[in-house]
Amino acid sequence: MKITRFASPKGVSPVIGIYPGTFDPLTSGHLDLIGRGSHLVDRLIVAVLANEAKHPLFSMEERTEMLREATAHFPNVEVDSFNGLLVQFAQARGAKLLLRGIRAVSDYEYELQMALMNRRLNPNIETVFLMAGESYSFLSSRMVKEVIRLGGDVSQMVPPNVEHRLRARLLGAAAGPE
Ligand code: ADP
Repeated sequence: MKITRFASPKGVSPVIGIYPGTFDPLTSGHLDLIGRGSHLVDRLIVAVLANEAKHPLFSMEERTEMLREATAHFPNVEVDSFNGLLVQFAQARGAKLLLRGIRAVSDYEYELQMALMNRRLNPNIETVFLMAGESYSFLSSRMVKEVIRLGGDVSQMVPPNVEHRLRARLLGAAAGPE
């Protein structure tokens, strides 16, 4: 089925959306959300939060690079990074929509808190939630790292470029061609 992208008519300002996250690393669940989200806006900015408090496995540069590689085929998706308040970054980029994903019920409470706080900080910016794709509802970056550490197959859980880097980082596998 060909999905037609919603696009603003000429003369109407384009709708810019931001999909923020830690992406340590990007998973197929994130990619699915990016694909579906990109149809809802004229331009989707995937924004990598530095998030040093979470002691990420990959640096911000690495996470950004993996995202750029994996989203290169989406014509209206760009990848950027930010530090500090999301609503300030959104305002600076002219974005009025924040995209987040909801997997199980356990995501709901945290996401609700964040969305309400962001609305209080800037009522002109709306958070939009997309349900996780059914095959990705239990997929998280943390789980992928655990599975690969224990020798499991993650090829259905992350794009090939991410699997390659994960193997190199966590298993010390020789970095051959991807
Ligand atoms: P954060 O630290 O901001 O939660 P993540 O990279 O873990 O960063 O997630 C970014 C967003 O993507 C969150 O809204 C999260 O709920 C969503 N997300 C994470 N994994 C999936 C998945 N498998 N399917 C759909 N959405 C997901």
